[in-house]
Amino acid sequence: MTTLGVDLGATHLRAGLVDRAGRLSGVTRQALPPDPTARLDALRSVVAAHPEVSAVGLAVAGTVRDGVLTWSANLGLSGVDFAAELGRPVTVLNDARAAGLAEARLGAGTGAATVLLVTVGTGLGGAVVTGGRLLEGAGHAGEVGHLVLEAGGPPCRCGNSGCWEQLAGGVALNRTGAALGPAGDGTPGAARLAAAVVAGQPRAVAALEQHARQFARGLDSLCAVLAPHTVVLGGGLIARSGPIRDAYLAAARTLRWHTGAVLPAQLGDDAGVLGAALAANPC
Ligand code: BGC
Ligand code: ZN
Repeated sequence: MTTLGVDLGATHLRAGLVDRAGRLSGVTRQALPPDPTARLDALRSVVAAHPEVSAVGLAVAGTVRDGVLTWSANLGLSGVDFAAELGRPVTVLNDARAAGLAEARLGAGTGAATVLLVTVGTGLGGAVVTGGRLLEGAGHAGEVGHLVLEAGGPPCRCGNSGCWEQLAGGVALNRTGAALGPAGDGTPGAARLAAAVVAGQPRAVAALEQHARQFARGLDSLCAVLAPHTVVLGGGLIARSGPIRDAYLAAARTLRWHTGAVLPAQLGDDAGVLGAALAANPC
């Protein structure tokens, strides 16, 4: 029995086939255009290319209820009923929740009773997995990026301001990197910030430290509430080695409310695809 796992992220669409043992094959990855309709077209093509699979799981960067993407800060889509869009049954879940499920069952969180996964990408995503099962609540449990940590802080696409991801997510790092001065070559702000830190620019070093402190502050609050056995950090900005990953991991290891393991995710960019496939085949 083979399942198609698909990960519809803010910038990329990934897909792959997952067998019963959780083995992944035939992974494809494509950059997504900004236009929401074109993104859905790309998704439709990827799914249509696999009529043979027994089930489809889809991870999306937004809040999901009953197979419908109800809201997304970073995709420019909302109110999308994916089964209707794709013309076939599909199990839909949030991207970070998919990654959390995969890391808890097959990756860095294997063996831990309660895993808190936080993804650091454009936004901050979250998942809590206890006994191999995702905490879903009424649907959106895990929207950690929208914890409000600074009254009157930077506005967030969710409508609030001072959300955690606006202080410590990729959007915040991009903003800081862009403020270092003109890049000219289109390098994203977070990458420019990392390069400036490697070059030893004091302003950049101080700014990254500040973002890492903000990151740790939110994580500490989550750990106070959830008391995870293991914390896993995932997402694109942790997957890439360099000063951002180092600073965030180091800050996450100095918490008041969590003295257990803080581990980088193991499944890299495949976590969303794997988790989507796992969710489509509950066991
Ligand atoms: C969204 C989450 C998503 C996270 C990571 C946040 O802005 O609200 O739903 O999981 O970004 O993509
Ligand atoms: Zn927000």
